[in-house]
Amino acid sequence: MSARRVVVLGAGPAGLAAAQAAIALGAEVVVLDENERVGGQFWRHHEQLTDRRMQHQWSRYERLRGALSRATVHTEASVWRVDTERGIRVHALVGPADAAARTGLTIEADALVIATGAHDRALPVPGWTLPGVTTAGAAQALAKRDGVTLGRRTVVAGAGPFLLPVAASLVLAGGAVAEVVEAAGVAAIARGWGRAPWQLAGVAGKAAELGEYAGSLLRHRTPYRIGQAVTRIHGRGAVEAVTVQRVDADWRPIAGTERTVECDSVALGHGFTPRLEAAIQAGCAVSDDRFVVVDERQATTASSVFAAGEVTGIAGADAALAEGAVAGFAAAGGALDDDRIRGALRARRRMHAFAARLATHAIRPGWTQWLDDDTIVCRCESVTRARLAEYADAASRGLRLATRAGLGACQGRTCGPSVEALVASPVGFDRRPILSSIRIGELADLHQTEHKEHQ
Ligand SMILES: Cc1cc2nc3c(=O)[nH]c(=O)nc-3n(C[C@H](O)[C@H](O)[C@H](O)COP(=O)(O)OP(=O)(O)OC[C@H]3O[C@@H](n4cnc5c(N)ncnc54)[C@H](O)[C@@H]3O)c2cc1C
Repeated sequence: MSARRVVVLGAGPAGLAAAQAAIALGAEVVVLDENERVGGQFWRHHEQLTDRRMQHQWSRYERLRGALSRATVHTEASVWRVDTERGIRVHALVGPADAAARTGLTIEADALVIATGAHDRALPVPGWTLPGVTTAGAAQALAKRDGVTLGRRTVVAGAGPFLLPVAASLVLAGGAVAEVVEAAGVAAIARGWGRAPWQLAGVAGKAAELGEYAGSLLRHRTPYRIGQAVTRIHGRGAVEAVTVQRVDADWRPIAGTERTVECDSVALGHGFTPRLEAAIQAGCAVSDDRFVVVDERQATTASSVFAAGEVTGIAGADAALAEGAVAGFAAAGGALDDDRIRGALRARRRMHAFAARLATHAIRPGWTQWLDDDTIVCRCESVTRARLAEYADAASRGLRLATRAGLGACQGRTCGPSVEALVASPVGFDRRPILSSIRIGELADLHQTEHKEHQ
């Protein structure tokens, strides 16, 4: 009998753990990722430049990467379509994203693990289109992969514990952090993180990591402001300062509390948006809060399709690792009462207790009150808040065609959730016939260039 073939889409912590578990059960594994190197967002690196102080659990990464010697790995492979109607078929274009001729690749498989992770999310702020403003994730990627700091003096603002590693990396890359500004208030943080502390006893590693970041803030005398937000970014041609303001429990700015902080750059991070497109295309059900629905085995509602990591809930890299191991094990035909998967099941339970606390930092609706009418919400097509308001009651298609929101280069990946928060009905930015950027010429040439595996 030939081995079960498992395709893993995404080589972050979840995908790597899935591949390792499926390989251990004897499956024939194919891993696809659009990045140049495996590792995903958590282990984003450059072989020569990576400063190991910015990388956590590096030896774990090396073990996972080592296991891939028994898999077929395609990096720089953009998966643009997933078909599940008559068996599983994954279509990718392989080659550097800006290369003239990428080659088509179609892989057929018995099971698919979707581990596409999440994008980081930044809420619009007046002035956020000035040079010097990026998402916190982009600032982190620059520091981790390229050893480059965003500016000489950066304000890191938004919500959630992710702001801490970003601030620490900026300092390690040679920059200074003027302030870390967290929108969740003292009461919310005390309620969220202070309740049932024994549930967090099993996540000592995470606590140590957070302690390390807090130590970095203390050493560099970086203020950590709670219950405050950057509500305006100032500058003539580039960032020169920000307005920081206290916000109420719903993140409504409180008048009279404004202060100005001088800086030359701003890293904004208000949480993460799961990359759902592949799962939606594969026919997987998505919950009301927009995550892929999975059962104990990490199986989705689509036959032989599993999902793991941030696409199933924002819970951090350790949860992604545990979920990935369970998904890969189940995709390769393993059963959950098998002793070999017990450790991953335990780790998943522990990390879900930690993840529940992240809701403390979830976006609250009052942020829309810091926007001006002319604040740009969709950056690719320069669509302002006022323009969206004109079509707030229109149906999705009408809104998109009239305003062009979400129709630019990012296809709504950056602005989608913010546009949806400002209009009456869901716009459905994550339903796409084509998952990743692909040139029309490449699509037309596919019948000539496409290479099929396992026919
Ligand atoms: C920008 C960013 C930076 C982060 N930095 C840190 C950090 O420094 N410290 C920390 O603790 N947490 C960080 N996080 C959170 C952490 O990365 C996640 O908790 C963890 O990586 C989740 O693992 P994952 O495997 O689910 O997803 P990811 O690590 O995001 O991996 C998903 C992979 O899927 C690939 N992919 C997606 N769609 C396609 C497609 N269509 N075709 C081909 N490949 C595809 C992506 O290229 C990516 O490599 C960061 C998150 C983001 C978004």
